[in-house]
Amino acid sequence: MKLIVIDPGHGGTDSGAVGNGLKEKDVVLSIALKTDWYLNNYYKVKTIVTRYTDKYLSLQDRSKISNNNNADLFFSVHCNAFNSKPCGYEDYTYTSVSANTTNIRLIFHNKVKEVISKYGINYRGMKTKNLHVLRETRASAILAETLFIDNVHDSNLLKDINFIEDISRAYADGIALALKLEKK
Ligand SMILES: [Zn+2]
Repeated sequence: MKLIVIDPGHGGTDSGAVGNGLKEKDVVLSIALKTDWYLNNYYKVKTIVTRYTDKYLSLQDRSKISNNNNADLFFSVHCNAFNSKPCGYEDYTYTSVSANTTNIRLIFHNKVKEVISKYGINYRGMKTKNLHVLRETRASAILAETLFIDNVHDSNLLKDINFIEDISRAYADGIALALKLEKK
């Protein structure tokens, strides 16, 4: 059975981005736990969430959890900031990845795009970056930047339980499609 490591960014003393009454560490924990719930309820899969509570983890702690458990996919959930215009959704893989990882990301991304379109969210595309958790994990690795916490339009969606459910479901379905998980 495939093993997915779901990684809510930040936590504990590290709030991540803050804005409009929200802390990134709380938003991403909620999305990660719902993604975990959807995966386990609808698909035959094993999952590990790097933190189930509001606690601090180093980047090394996160990549170690993935590598020590021989994960098939490492999926990190973040929110963006810096009032960048335009705001919206984007996801990342490492700067050089295998054809398999490229394909996994493309399938995942296209599934998530359905929710991005549904809510009229600005689309920032598929990107690559040299980030620790993408570079140091042996599994295929994707990092999703779930909207801009310091943008009013985006943060209103991050406060909307319907959006949180929809994006979490899309993350789970996207992972399942990409890894060809069997339905329950
Ligand atoms: Zn972050």
